[in-house]
Amino acid sequence: MTTSSGLPASTLPPHFAYQNQRLMAENVPLDRLAHEHGTPLFVYSRAAILDALGAYQRGLAGRKHLICYAMKANSSLAILQTLVREGCGLDIVSGGELERALAAGVEPSKVIFSGVGKTRAEMRQALTAGIGCFNVESRAELDVLDEVARDMGMRAPVSVRVNPNVDAQTHPYISTGLKGNKFGIAHEEVASTYRHAATCRGLRVVGIDCHIGSQITQTGPYLDAMDRVLDLVQAIEAEGVAIEHIDFGGGLGIDYQGDAPPEADSLWAQLLQRMDARGFGDRMIFIEPGRSLVGNAGVCLTEVLYLKPGEHKNFLIVDAAMNDLPRPAMYQAFHRIVPLTPREGEPTTWDVVGPVCESGDWIGRDRALVAQPGDLLAVMSAGAYCMSMASNYNTRGRAAEVLVDGENAILIRARETAADQLRSERALPAV
Ligand SMILES: *Cc1c(COP(=O)(O)O)cnc(C)c1O
Repeated sequence: MTTSSGLPASTLPPHFAYQNQRLMAENVPLDRLAHEHGTPLFVYSRAAILDALGAYQRGLAGRKHLICYAMKANSSLAILQTLVREGCGLDIVSGGELERALAAGVEPSKVIFSGVGKTRAEMRQALTAGIGCFNVESRAELDVLDEVARDMGMRAPVSVRVNPNVDAQTHPYISTGLKGNKFGIAHEEVASTYRHAATCRGLRVVGIDCHIGSQITQTGPYLDAMDRVLDLVQAIEAEGVAIEHIDFGGGLGIDYQGDAPPEADSLWAQLLQRMDARGFGDRMIFIEPGRSLVGNAGVCLTEVLYLKPGEHKNFLIVDAAMNDLPRPAMYQAFHRIVPLTPREGEPTTWDVVGPVCESGDWIGRDRALVAQPGDLLAVMSAGAYCMSMASNYNTRGRAAEVLVDGENAILIRARETAADQLRSERALPAV
């Protein structure tokens, strides 16, 4: 099947489609939003977020579970509220994220705190807020948390993040479950770490945690990790330390470029089968999905500024850049790029690049497009790890964001101005 634009329909994520030669997010034409709010502009589909969440909810239906959205994927307040209002908890990795999480109205007991480098101040902040669990990543961190909690006359709820030593078969920068990674406690040291934690008066062991990587497109690594985690739960409980919940992390991939990750519900059908077979079917399950909830629910709209054909390469210079869309520069990541209003004609092969003064500032390479200055393009699959990684490099203000719901579109973040950026700076005294 092809759309009126001649593009195969299957190349566009759900809730994004051409209607009368205009790319729509749900029932809103994207060119209208670009004219109203300017570019670069992030646009998210609420229905796409809820559909992605629905697959996890179906997969875990009838089981004791908590879906903690890994908010580093996209921490914009309205996105958090969208998920929190559906009952999600949040997986945080900093004190700043905790403040955002609370501002979004999450129940503190549904917040879990991950990351290898929590500071004492962040630990105190999270204990004061009453979060549900600290996912601890080293013996040293465990001892500091114990001390901080005892000083406050509290007991910190903890899980140990285990490194199951399985290869998630993804990009090395987003693979986290191998021995050579900085994440988690090695399989061999897990049981002794739990023995130790159980003796700490400032700690209360509540669970076990594992997260093997990101943009995972195969079921195998998950099944292997589940087996290894269940082995550990058995070993830990044999020593008399109870594990109330199993946190299986996030990491499920999305389709950027014809990738075919398993659906969350079918993945969980298989994982639950493993858990049932080994007698862990009634255990409380936590998960921490990030990218798979929001990645394909967002696009970044950008305007073509200049055509710069050359002897070796043709450059299409657009007004979005690596400060808005850091994934290509960071991971050589691929995002589909499509016109908001397709033009007739013979496509040219372009490198789509931004205005930032770095050769790494590219958004797509060797893309066949028919484009003229002033045309609008959509960079697809930009809902995760784009806005939350955006920077002010080149003193570029961060983009505006809009959330679409059916026919309605609301601005959820105003475009950042230069004045916003200067506000926290202090000029030298006059000479
Ligand atoms: C980043 C992260 C996640 C989310 O990963 P996704 O690939 O976005 O699903 C979950 N848990 C931890 C500990 C993380 O660091």
